[in-house]
Amino acid sequence: MSTTNKDHVDVAVVGAGMLGLAHAFAALKRGLRVAVFERTSTPIGASIRNFGQALVTGQPPGVMLGLAKQSRELWLHLSQRANFSVREGGVLLFARSAAEQAVLEEFMIVRARQHGYDVSLLEGEQLAALYGGRFRHHRAALHGTADLQLYSREAIPALVCYLQSQGVQFYFNTLVKEAGDGQLSTTAGEFRAERTIVCSGHDYQTLFAEQLGAMNLKVCRLQMLRAKTREPLALTHPVLTGLSCTHYGAFSDLPSAAALDAEIEANTPAIKRHGIHLLVSPTPYQELIIGDSHYYGVDAPPFNNEEIDQIFIDLTEHTLGVKLDVLERWQGVYGSKGPGPFSVTRIDDHTTVSLMHTGIGMSVGLGLGERVVSALLDNTALPDPAVDTQ
Ligand SMILES: Cc1cc2nc3c(=O)[nH]c(=O)nc-3n(C[C@H](O)[C@H](O)[C@H](O)COP(=O)(O)OP(=O)(O)OC[C@H]3O[C@@H](n4cnc5c(N)ncnc54)[C@H](O)[C@@H]3O)c2cc1C
Repeated sequence: MSTTNKDHVDVAVVGAGMLGLAHAFAALKRGLRVAVFERTSTPIGASIRNFGQALVTGQPPGVMLGLAKQSRELWLHLSQRANFSVREGGVLLFARSAAEQAVLEEFMIVRARQHGYDVSLLEGEQLAALYGGRFRHHRAALHGTADLQLYSREAIPALVCYLQSQGVQFYFNTLVKEAGDGQLSTTAGEFRAERTIVCSGHDYQTLFAEQLGAMNLKVCRLQMLRAKTREPLALTHPVLTGLSCTHYGAFSDLPSAAALDAEIEANTPAIKRHGIHLLVSPTPYQELIIGDSHYYGVDAPPFNNEEIDQIFIDLTEHTLGVKLDVLERWQGVYGSKGPGPFSVTRIDDHTTVSLMHTGIGMSVGLGLGERVVSALLDNTALPDPAVDTQ
């Protein structure tokens, strides 16, 4: 299948974000000649702006849980080869109130064992023993032991270097203007590809605008912080709170999560209004990445709201019991409100579009890349979030 013509590859991937790299890796593993086209000089999209949490625990049973478990194995495989750090200690999700605790308890009883989540609920002495008693002021902690955490701004460039070292050709600063029927028209010239996989994130207008327009997609825009703690805190787990239980599919359909949601709306309307749920990821440099808020729309408003950042700081200081100094603030944008959490769309016999429509691409992207490339090569059904084939 491989060819020696530099402008003719087996698989062309558009976009060097998490999804593009995942599909490129899956094609490379199958011995294919792969080229990746990225319009910026280095990946600067959603994939380097995130928390780097590869969450298994948060995914709903079925396709998404299966993808997250598959992605976990791929992250561990790649971290060894591409030489980036990955935390394997799992996440801690703290219940700060009776309503948050009720969701964790219901999850443990009705879902955890039945669907094979690797979790334990820490209460009483086990909770008190965590980090020398620092988290005693909470009611319980769910320890998700399968969850990983990466430092995305280092892991994504490391993945690019690794794929380059294995022969994947990267064309940075190269916009793909048109694609279809085995041809790509780019700002670096014309290319031919047996298969083109478009992983263009939340850009719905450059390629296949009509097809994507029909899906009525939106973007989600989030505020983020990087901060350091005033006194040393050797945090080695990513931290979440019960607020995430109303957000992640593993919990959000439980009856106790609806009660929690109502409580959040009644007691902390600004948290509800800004779609805030607290995630804290420790970086390898004793700093914390903190967020996030959720604004959904056709475009991402450029103006950061200080009320949101202040809520992050207050929530983090209370949850971790530390004072913070903010080092950096940024926005992240990801694709959202699609027909499901992801979509894989066949445009023609040579061209496929693979997109995430919710903020879990680091958790499931590697698995999705595997399944899309397998389906294309084996000529089987493309992955569909509504169809659990595993
Ligand atoms: C703030 C934030 C926090 C998040 N936290 C997490 C988390 O902790 N865990 C998790 O699982 N997920 C998280 N996510 C979601 C995750 O980051 C995304 O789902 C994932 O990064 C999407 O990857 P992508 O490759 O589709 O998009 P992107 O990373 O945005 O990449 C798309 C790339 O395509 C390029 N491109 C588009 N069109 C063209 C074209 N025509 N020609 C050339 N190049 C093109 C763009 O320049 C871009 O580099 C978070 C997202 C954000 C924003």
